[in-house]
Amino acid sequence: MAGLDGQANTGYNARVESFRDDEYPMLKGDIYLDHAGTTLYPKSLMERFAQVMTSSLFGNPHSASASSQLSTARIEDIRLRVLSFFNADPAEFDLVFVANATAGIKLIADALRAAPNGFDYAYHQASHTSIIGVREEARNSLCLDDDQVEEWLCHGCPFGDDRDDRPVLFAYPAQSNMNGQRYPLNWAERARSARGKTYSLLDAAALVCSTPLDLGHAHAAPDFTVLSFYKMFGFPDLGALIVRRDAEAAFNTRRYFGGGTVDMVVCLKEQWHAPKSQFLHERLEDGTLPVHSIIALDVALDVHERLFGSMRDVAAHTSFLARRLCSGLRSIKHENGEPVCVLYSDPDSAKEGLGSGPTIAFNIRNSLGTWVSLAEVEKLASLKGFHIRTGGVCNPGGIASALGLDPWEMRQNFSSGFRCGTDNDIMSGKPTGIIRASLGAMSTISDVDSFVQFVSEFYRDDSPVPIPTTLGAQPRGSQLHIHSITIYPIKSCGGFQVPPGVDWEVKPEGLVWDREWCLLHQGTGQVLNQKRHPKMALIRPSLDLKEGQLHVSYPGESPAHLSREISIPISKNPSLFCTSSPHSRSSRVCGEEIQAQTYASPDINHFFSDILGVPCLLARFPAGGQGKSMRHSKAHLQKHQLQPPPRARPILPGSFPPSPPDSDTEKAVSRRILLSNESPILAITLPSVDALNQEIQMAKPGTKEVSYAVFRANIVIAPAAPDASITPYSEDSWSSVRIGQQQFEFEMLGACRRCHMVCINQNTAEKTEEPFVTLSKTRRFDGKLFFGVHMCYSGSEGRQFPTVRVGDMLVPEWRRGE
Ligand SMILES: *Cc1c(COP(=O)(O)O)cnc(C)c1O
Repeated sequence: MAGLDGQANTGYNARVESFRDDEYPMLKGDIYLDHAGTTLYPKSLMERFAQVMTSSLFGNPHSASASSQLSTARIEDIRLRVLSFFNADPAEFDLVFVANATAGIKLIADALRAAPNGFDYAYHQASHTSIIGVREEARNSLCLDDDQVEEWLCHGCPFGDDRDDRPVLFAYPAQSNMNGQRYPLNWAERARSARGKTYSLLDAAALVCSTPLDLGHAHAAPDFTVLSFYKMFGFPDLGALIVRRDAEAAFNTRRYFGGGTVDMVVCLKEQWHAPKSQFLHERLEDGTLPVHSIIALDVALDVHERLFGSMRDVAAHTSFLARRLCSGLRSIKHENGEPVCVLYSDPDSAKEGLGSGPTIAFNIRNSLGTWVSLAEVEKLASLKGFHIRTGGVCNPGGIASALGLDPWEMRQNFSSGFRCGTDNDIMSGKPTGIIRASLGAMSTISDVDSFVQFVSEFYRDDSPVPIPTTLGAQPRGSQLHIHSITIYPIKSCGGFQVPPGVDWEVKPEGLVWDREWCLLHQGTGQVLNQKRHPKMALIRPSLDLKEGQLHVSYPGESPAHLSREISIPISKNPSLFCTSSPHSRSSRVCGEEIQAQTYASPDINHFFSDILGVPCLLARFPAGGQGKSMRHSKAHLQKHQLQPPPRARPILPGSFPPSPPDSDTEKAVSRRILLSNESPILAITLPSVDALNQEIQMAKPGTKEVSYAVFRANIVIAPAAPDASITPYSEDSWSSVRIGQQQFEFEMLGACRRCHMVCINQNTAEKTEEPFVTLSKTRRFDGKLFFGVHMCYSGSEGRQFPTVRVGDMLVPEWRRGE
C-alpha cells in the first residue's frame, strides 16, 4: 500500500485499512465522516453480542433466581471494568449507568435545583446544547469564554460573594463537538479550590471517542464526568455519569426516587422512604437497568481493543488523519489563489499542549469569497457517499464564536425564518453553521484523501478568467412551442400528461388539478415526498374528467404481483372527507403548516399505505381556501438572473456581487399556490436538458441519459421546428412568455432551486448520482443549484382563465438590458 511507509512513527495504524471493509460492511464503499455525532458498530461486535445473548439467560436484576443473580453480578463486574478503562479507582469514584450523556447531565441538574437555595451555573461557551439547557434550572447562570474562565479561576467567584451559600456548578466540554478544540482538564481542580462550594462537570462525550481519559488523580478529577458509549463503540446505546465520591453529597438533595433506588417506602397514612445508602449508583439508577446494553458494553470493550488496540493507539491514528485532512483542505486553492476552505479547527494548535480532537469544522467559499450553502454541500456529499454533518451541530456558542455571529444576528435570522436544518443557511451574507468531518478509529487514509479530492473537484474554481456567459445572447424570433404538459395531481407522485389536442385551464394557482392532493404521514401529519419515498414516482394518477374520477395505478413489483388500481371521486362532496375531528389535522409541507382535508375511506388510505409501507392518508388541498388552507409562492428572481455581468460564466458558483440580503421569503410577491414547492407553474426547456446531458457525457462518457421527466416540470418547451434553436438556459433571462394564438401572458418568477430529488428515475424509482452531480458543477449560483424556471399566469381578474395545449406557440420576452 503506497503512501503508508514510514508512518509507524506518526501513529497511523495501517491495520485499520486492511480490516475496514470486512468489519464495516454497511459502508459498502461509503465514507463515514460523522464520528462526532455517532459511530459505526463493527460486525464482530454484533456477532459476539448475538453469541453471548443466545448462550446465557440474563434475568431482571433484583431477584434471587439464577438468571437474575447472573445479571447483577455481570453488571457489577462491568461497572468496575469501565471505571478501570478510565483509570478511576472505585474507592474514589462511582459510575452510574444512564441512557446517554444528556441523561447524566440531567441527573446532576435535578439534584442541584433541589438544594435549599438552588445553585448558580457557569458554563463554557463551547458547550453542547445539552450542557446549556441546565441554565434553565439554575438561579443565576453565566456563559464564559476561555479568558473569563481564567479570570474567574484566578480571582474568585463569577457570581460575586453575597450568595447565601449557594453551590456553583461549572460545566465545560473536554473537547468541542463542533471543531475538536480541547479544554484544560485542570480547570476542574482549579474550580474546586475557588472560593465557595464549586462542583465541576466535565462533558467528555466528544473527547473519549478517540482519546484516553485518565482519572488516575482523584483529587484533580472533575466531580462529574458524562459520556455516551455509543459514540465510542457504536453500540450499545448507553451512557455513564462518573462521580467523584467526595462530591456525592451533591445528590443528597435529589427528591425523586424510583424502583430499585430505595430500601423501604411507606405509603398510605405515612409518607416515608429510606434511600439506598451504600453506593451512589444504587440511589441514582431509577428503575430497571438496561441489562442487555450493559452486557453489550463488555463485549464492545473487548472487540474495540482487539480491533484498534488501546485508546492511546486510537488517539495517535486519528490525530495523524486529522492533520492530513486539515492540511489537505487548507491546500486547495482556487485558480486565483484564494483558499477554497475556511477552517475553524486546528489540530496543530499546541495551545497548552492540549492538541485538538479529530473533528474538522470548515466552510467553503468560491473564488470571489461568496459562501457555499451548507445544505447544498451536504446533499452532494451524500450522493457521493460521504456521511458528514452540517449546520449548528448542537453547539450554538461554538458556532457563534467561530462564525462571528452576534446574538442579535442569530435572533434576526430566526425571525426571518432560519431554523436548524433548513436549506436557507446563508443569511445576510454569512453562513449560519459549519461543515463537520470527524474521524474515528475506523477512518482510513483513503477516506481522508477521497474527501479532500471531492471538495477540490466540486468546489474549486479552476478557470482564472470566467468564460463568456450564455445568458442574454439570444437571437430574437426563434420559434418555440409547448412540447408537453404534465400535471402532478398528487404531490410527489407520478405525472399525468395532458393529451395532445386538449385545452388545459390555467388558474392563478397553476394548471388545474396540479398538486391538489397529497399523502400525509398518519402520525406526524408531514406531507410525504419522493426524496424519502422514491416509490411515490411509480404511483401514477390519471384524471378522467368525464367520469369524475382520479384513477391511480401502481405497477406490480414482480410478475407475481398484479398491478394495483383505485379510483377516487373528484367530487368535493363533504361526505368523502373525515368530518372535522376534535384535533383538526394540521400538517406540514415544506416546513409550512397547512390544513388539508383527509379522505375517510379506509380503502383509499390502505391503498397508499400498503404501497409505501408507511401509514398515510390521502388529503386534498383545494383551491380557494383561507388561512392555513392557503399557500403562497416563494419563487423570486435569483441573483444570477438579475445581474449577469458581461463575462461571468454560470459555472462559477455565486459569482455575482452580493445584492441585497437574500432571504428567499422577502422578495416573493404574494401569489397563491396549492401544494407545489414554490410556484404555480414550473417550466423547463429541452435544449437545457440536452446541454446538461452533454455535460454529463463529457464528464462521464457512457452515463445513461437523464430524462427531462426527472425535473417534474409542468410545461416542457422546445424549438418548434428541427431547424429552429435556442441557447440552453436562455429561459433564465426571460421576463415573460406569451402562449398560444390568444397570446396569454405568463410572468417568469425566477429560477427553480434543485435538490437531489432530480436523481430519482421517474420510471423505475431508482436513484442515481446524476444529474445532481453535474448540476452542482455547471449550474451552481450563490452556492445553490438551479434548473428550470417558475412562472404564473399574470392576466387580469375577471377575464376568463386561459388554457394551454401541447403544440401552442410560445414567445419569450427578454428582461431589459439583455
Ligand atoms: C454528543 C454529545 C453530547 C450529547 O450526547 P447524547 O448521547 O446525545 O446525550 C454532549 N456533549 C458533547 C460534547 C457531545 O459530543
